[in-house]
Amino acid sequence: MTTAGTAPGDGRPVYVVVGAGQAGAAAVTAMRAAGFDGRIVLVGAEPHLPYERPPLSKEVLVKPEGARLAIHAEAFYADNRIECRFGEAARHLDLDQHRLELASGEPLAFDKLLLTTGARARAYPLLDQLGASVHTLRTLDDATALRGHIWPGRHVLVVGGGIIGLEVAASAVAMGARVTVIERGARLMARGTPAPVVEMLQALHLRNGVTFELGADLIEAAQGATGEVTLRAADGRAFRGDHVVYGIGVELNADLALSAGLKVEDGILVDECGRTSHPDIFAAGDVARQWYPERGTHLRFETWGNAQNQGTGVGRAMVTGEPCGFEVPWYWTDQYGHNVQVAGAHEADEWLSRGDPAALKGTLFGLKDDVVVGAVTVDNGREMRPARAMIADGFRVTDRTRLADPKADLRKLAEGRL
Ligand SMILES: Cc1cc2nc3c(=O)[nH]c(=O)nc-3n(C[C@H](O)[C@H](O)[C@H](O)COP(=O)(O)OP(=O)(O)OC[C@H]3O[C@@H](n4cnc5c(N)ncnc54)[C@H](O)[C@@H]3O)c2cc1C
Repeated sequence: MTTAGTAPGDGRPVYVVVGAGQAGAAAVTAMRAAGFDGRIVLVGAEPHLPYERPPLSKEVLVKPEGARLAIHAEAFYADNRIECRFGEAARHLDLDQHRLELASGEPLAFDKLLLTTGARARAYPLLDQLGASVHTLRTLDDATALRGHIWPGRHVLVVGGGIIGLEVAASAVAMGARVTVIERGARLMARGTPAPVVEMLQALHLRNGVTFELGADLIEAAQGATGEVTLRAADGRAFRGDHVVYGIGVELNADLALSAGLKVEDGILVDECGRTSHPDIFAAGDVARQWYPERGTHLRFETWGNAQNQGTGVGRAMVTGEPCGFEVPWYWTDQYGHNVQVAGAHEADEWLSRGDPAALKGTLFGLKDDVVVGAVTVDNGREMRPARAMIADGFRVTDRTRLADPKADLRKLAEGRL
């Protein structure tokens, strides 16, 4: 057994977690819960305690005083003997020596290491040249900086019509700004959001005064002497505004893994216990693509639920060796005070409505060959748990009228008791 470089010879096994976000915080919690009694070192590039990212595009912009961000209070880390190295990135991983090097040059020796390094906002150099007039949104510091540029009457150009872009648009409207969403593709939320959800959210934005410019391939970004920004599209359209926010996807923080020679293919490849191509190195969260024997494939998700569950599962697996198990993928978005939750696959060939989701209350079931493969709840989150159970069990619909009836208890239906 090796020991951490900072406490040579103390003899206890050392687990190091690189990346103090959702998955990292969940993993260290799970390691202690599973009975690991050695040293745990949690290394995070950001200077903050691990915090929740979902509020960044919502409460942190609109009502920062009410936002609850910290995953655990500070005392949790001391109480659980978790050694925190926040505000310092890890810069090199030596697999042969079982040694991690921090940006300061400090070495940390480990027995097992977990990478939960997540992702960063994908850069858009064309827009980055706008300097202080452009922002992305991934970190708490990004959100705090962006907030200072949105106020009543400002015209915000949101580039990218994905979930982050649309949440920023809704928050900017709530802050009194005028918003134009500019999207290169022909539709919004192209990355796998079911069509009925896209239509409903787009209608909601239109009702709140947002303008959409779809199919706009930007070729030029310029700033006038008065600070006004002009973005030009290849088809000649010009969009003028006061400030630009863009959300065009992420780039994975997989550099440490790549330079160490671990297998990376759209994510660090891991087995069902979260183990990478090296037996003592694990990965979880946005940066990991995990093998699911039940599905016969590797899958990677960029959701809070995955980071939390996989971080927990892999932290536990590092101690006990138990596989993580498959969880039906699930995410939510909050826009204009409405909560939309989406679960499962999106290859449904039919959507069955229960309640009236278009009127912003109810559940939609995605069916493929009469089997529930997906579900969407709109301001109806209490039905998400039974709906996910139905997806996990491959629930076959024999009585559509009953499933469509909001008065029929979904939990009982899912359990076959109705
Ligand atoms: C604005 C925003 C809103 C979102 N809203 C929702 C939502 O409503 N619903 C939902 O399901 N999901 C949402 N998500 C997605 C969800 O927050 C992420 O999937 C989740 O945070 C991923 O967790 P993670 O721990 O894998 O990575 P992260 O949370 O990205 O944490 C990774 C951490 O590792 C650190 N790190 C990276 N490299 C190093 C290094 N070399 N050394 C040390 N530290 C390093 C990073 O600085 C970061 O702090 C949202 C994301 C964002 C950005």
